Amino acid sequence: MKEIKRRDFGQTGLKVTEVSLGAMNLRTLDDENHAKQVIHRALDLGINLIDTARAYNEEKEDGRLFESEVFVGDVINQRVDLSEPIIIITKGHGYKAKDFDGYINTSRNKLGITNFGDLKIGDNDIKLVYFFHGISKDRWKDMIETGALELAKKRREEGYFNYLGFSSHNGHEEVVKEAIESGYFDVIELPYNVFSHGFSDDLIEYGNIFKLAHDEGIAIINMKAFGGNGMVDKSNLFDDYCDISTQNRLLYCLSNNYISTVDAGCRFIEELELDVKVSHNQKLSKQECLKLEESAKKVNEVTKNTCRECTHCLEKFECPAGINFPEILALHTRYILAKEFNGDIEEIKNSYSLIENKADECTKCAQCNIWCEYKLDIHELLERTHELLARK
Ligand code: SF4
Ligand code: SF4
Repeated sequence: MKEIKRRDFGQTGLKVTEVSLGAMNLRTLDDENHAKQVIHRALDLGINLIDTARAYNEEKEDGRLFESEVFVGDVINQRVDLSEPIIIITKGHGYKAKDFDGYINTSRNKLGITNFGDLKIGDNDIKLVYFFHGISKDRWKDMIETGALELAKKRREEGYFNYLGFSSHNGHEEVVKEAIESGYFDVIELPYNVFSHGFSDDLIEYGNIFKLAHDEGIAIINMKAFGGNGMVDKSNLFDDYCDISTQNRLLYCLSNNYISTVDAGCRFIEELELDVKVSHNQKLSKQECLKLEESAKKVNEVTKNTCRECTHCLEKFECPAGINFPEILALHTRYILAKEFNGDIEEIKNSYSLIENKADECTKCAQCNIWCEYKLDIHELLERTHELLARK
């Protein structure tokens, strides 16, 4: 396969492949070897950035713990053919100074990094980019007031990691802009796709955030390139109602020159190979991008304020009433789409009837709300979903 094109990785001096590997979904596989083969294949293809996080873990029913960081570390450790340092992104929740060292040290251990400065995994040189995971107004406040941000800067200087970054989501534009302008960060990771491109639009209040980051010399990693709802098998919510191909979703992102790399979250080698193949296609013109945006708009508008089934909330939180609320809320989104575009509502109601802990078991404790990256009022949405989907 042809070499993947490379782009500047902000002002780090590194060149990054414009397609990179998102290792979040590898935890959802049943076979550890399969997960590692995907990472091996990414390296074989020449991909030089892998995106993981402390939170990307899953405990299997038989007690096995699948940890994305461990898989990444193990594979790099095994390789004897790497001719350049692989860039590894990992992320932690140490927003308070007292928690920061615990998170970074655990991530380094899990990845198998034991030295400082010119970092290595086994015999291989790596570049470690350490992220504050998913910053919001409250977390940013904690990072500043408790000194976590200053501590992170110090740890970077001490060589615990090479570059500092953060990730965030839509709805946190104010904080993202402030963080970009703070001068602390080398790399950021934000969602961007044909359905939701706000971070690269000329926002009335905040301007074009991608342009701002780019002009500040910060590398931009594009997450959720496929719509922010491709995290689990069952979540291709838009596909029945929207004719934008997976290839065009990727090309749309790759056509944005502010982006350093598109993080393709893969679970299968075939997906990764296809993404790399697509990256060799000619990028889209401004007009072609606008046309895709128009087509995306029709599903976008009806699914505002619905769950994206991103499962980010479940990384850190479990409902005390045992309700799998993203699963239920995904059915709500499907219902909204089916209603608007004459889809099969009975099938959706049937799926809801098979769920054991239904929305009416929600105690409205509201503990889940703070974990939703999209600021959804979850118990209110659950109540509405039950009214719509429960068979009377
Ligand atoms: S509000 Fe409902 S869904 Fe959310 S944590 Fe409480 S019981 Fe669970
Ligand atoms: S509730 Fe929020 S964080 Fe959780 S899956 Fe839905 S959109 Fe994602």
